[in-house]
Amino acid sequence: MNGPQVNGRRPKAHIVTLGCQMNVRDSQTLAGMLQRMGYGFADRVEDADLVLFNTCSVRENPERKIYGQVAALQALKQRRPGMLIGICGCMPQQRPELERMRKELPHVDLILGTFNLHRFPDLLQQVVETGRPVVEVWHDEGEIVEGLPVLREPGSVTAFVSIIYGCDYRCTFCVVPNTRGRQRSRRPEAIEQEVRELVAQGVREVTLLGQTANAYGRDLPQEHLSLARLLERLSAIDGLERIRFTSNHPREMTEDLIEAMARLPKVAEHVHLAVQSGSDRMLHRMGRRYTADEFVALVERMRQAIPELSVTTDIIVGFPGETDADFRATLDLVRTVRFDGAFTFVYSPRPGTAALKLPDPVPEPVKRERIQELIAVQNAISLERNLAYRDRTVEVLVEGQSERSAQRLSGRTRTNKVVVFDAPAEERHALIGRLVPIVIEDVNTWTLFGRLAASQDPASLVAGAGGQAR
Ligand code: SF4
Repeated sequence: MNGPQVNGRRPKAHIVTLGCQMNVRDSQTLAGMLQRMGYGFADRVEDADLVLFNTCSVRENPERKIYGQVAALQALKQRRPGMLIGICGCMPQQRPELERMRKELPHVDLILGTFNLHRFPDLLQQVVETGRPVVEVWHDEGEIVEGLPVLREPGSVTAFVSIIYGCDYRCTFCVVPNTRGRQRSRRPEAIEQEVRELVAQGVREVTLLGQTANAYGRDLPQEHLSLARLLERLSAIDGLERIRFTSNHPREMTEDLIEAMARLPKVAEHVHLAVQSGSDRMLHRMGRRYTADEFVALVERMRQAIPELSVTTDIIVGFPGETDADFRATLDLVRTVRFDGAFTFVYSPRPGTAALKLPDPVPEPVKRERIQELIAVQNAISLERNLAYRDRTVEVLVEGQSERSAQRLSGRTRTNKVVVFDAPAEERHALIGRLVPIVIEDVNTWTLFGRLAASQDPASLVAGAGGQAR
């Protein structure tokens, strides 16, 4: 396909990505398709011939901001005829948002949804050829389209690989089943092929992505297809060092999967397990289908099977009807489980969700107070757990230069802790992509700091040290 030309030169695109890792991965596909069409890329909106917003609907604020950001481009577009603006992702997938976009953002040239992402090149070509806006949003999931090009960060040693699209749960606060549809698992052969190609390009660690990654395979026709079997299959790939998967629903964390995590050396000792609340009353209202006691028992079973396991979570405060006692139950659960980290959110009402109709909204000041208290409690626990790493030697996959300092490198432990460390200037480049032993000398709430261990003998490694952190 011939891409558009701008003043006789190769046009440049700029992609704005909001939201979760699934959107990050979708933006890599959009970038791959643009590259194949002949586009280059611009770091700044001002230098781009095409600006594409890959949107998120999970929270209200970012959604509101998109309207402002896209409206602000109108003046730039008037000064630069030929500039194109596109919107994709979860927002257009909701009918009221789509209607609002068409009304309030008439200068947008292309709108598409999550189910027809693969149609992007054809739709963009249509815009270029006709000079008219194109809107195409499917409301049925359709088949998974394999083989789309992907443009990842060059030289990256880690990569996201989608294994499931959509979600079959109907948590009452969540917009995802509306915007991403029912659960559809990719075929295991297609996933394996993608991972093999990534390894051939230098990737050492993959993170398997899905809204409920641990429900993988349930929708596929063959029996015995599960995340445990997929982990076994991917473990056989030479050159792949580590496998992670996220996000996970507690109800889908089967004994079979826990056993596979414990048995397979390439599966990292980290699980992201969204708890959302410590109050059974709230969990019931959220439609989560487990109790706080069941969650605590599950983490306990996992830690017995995988002693180094680190556990992170998502928590919502201020869900409709949440009393002070409900909130205290969440704090109690956090103190009992002692998560390594938590993503904490103030409840955000979302259109099209069941929670929107629930009575007893929690006043904003109360929500803000509660989230501050929760963050303080969790941060203290995260720091304590990180302190248990001090003076230990951990295996780190070196990902690249530290964002804060060109003199240092950064990577992650098997337990998904970020490690920043000093290394001699002449060795830095060669260390990227390698597993190295690092002695942890200092920590804060979010990061471990250290130096290369004198001995590079793998026997000197303590794989995670999370077991001692409990
Ligand atoms: S499990 Fe619940 S919170 Fe997670 S994506 Fe599905 S509906 Fe949303």
